[in-house]
Amino acid sequence: MHIEEMTRADALSLVASMPLGRLAYALNDQPYVTPLSFALEGDNLFGFSTVGQKITCMRANPKVCVEFERIKNQQEWATVLIGGLFEELDHGSGYSDRAYSLLSRRAAWWQPGYIRTDLASAEHPLEPVYFRIQIVKISGRRSVSDEPRPPRRNLWQRICREDGQPYC
Ligand SMILES: Cc1cc2nc3c(=O)[nH]c(=O)nc-3n(C[C@H](O)[C@H](O)[C@H](O)COP(=O)(O)OP(=O)(O)OC[C@H]3O[C@@H](n4cnc5c(N)ncnc54)[C@H](O)[C@@H]3O)c2cc1C
Repeated sequence: MHIEEMTRADALSLVASMPLGRLAYALNDQPYVTPLSFALEGDNLFGFSTVGQKITCMRANPKVCVEFERIKNQQEWATVLIGGLFEELDHGSGYSDRAYSLLSRRAAWWQPGYIRTDLASAEHPLEPVYFRIQIVKISGRRSVSDEPRPPRRNLWQRICREDGQPYC
C-alpha cells in the first residue's frame, strides 16, 4: 500500500458525499474538536448550530480546520483536511436561506444542533445560528493498494462451473 495525494476535485467530491466532519477550532491556545454536519456548495461549507462553546470561540477566532474521512480499514481510506474561515450568516440573508435549503435536504438535519442539552454547568440557549466556512485550503490523501488485482473472470467463466457445465 502507498499513500497518494487527491486532486482538489476528488477531495471536494469526498466532502460532498460525507455530511459529517470534525470541526477543529481554537481559543487562547486551546484547540477543540467537535463532530458536526455540513453541506458543501462551491467553496463553502454550510452548518447550523445553537450558541455554545464552538460558536463563542469561532466568533472570537474565525480560523478553523475541518476533517472529513472515509475509512474502511487501515489499508482502505481517504481523508480530507480543510482550512477555512468561519462566518456567521445573517438571518434572512441569501446565504442563510441557501444554508437552510441545503441542510434541510437531510431528514432531522436540525436535531443535533437544535436540541435541548442537559449540561451540569449552565443552561444552553436555543439560539439558532447558520454559518459558513469559506474554504481557504484543502488537501486530501488516500491509500492505494500495491497488490495486483486478481484477473477478472470472463463471462463464460462466471456462468460456468470449473468443469465447463453451466450453473443451474
Ligand atoms: C453525528 C453528529 C452530528 C452533529 N451535528 C451537529 C450539527 O449539525 N450542529 C450542531 O450544533 N451540533 C451537532 N452535533 C453535536 C455537536 O457535536 C456538539 O455536541 C454540539 O454542537 C454542542 O457543541 P458546543 O460547542 O456548543 O458545546 P457546549 O454545549 O457549549 O459544551 C462545551 C463542552 O461540552 C463538551 N462537548 C460538546 N460537544 C461534545 C460532543 N459531541 N461529545 C463530547 N463532548 C462534547 C466538550 O467538553 C466541550 O468543551 C452533532 C453531533 C453528532 C455526533
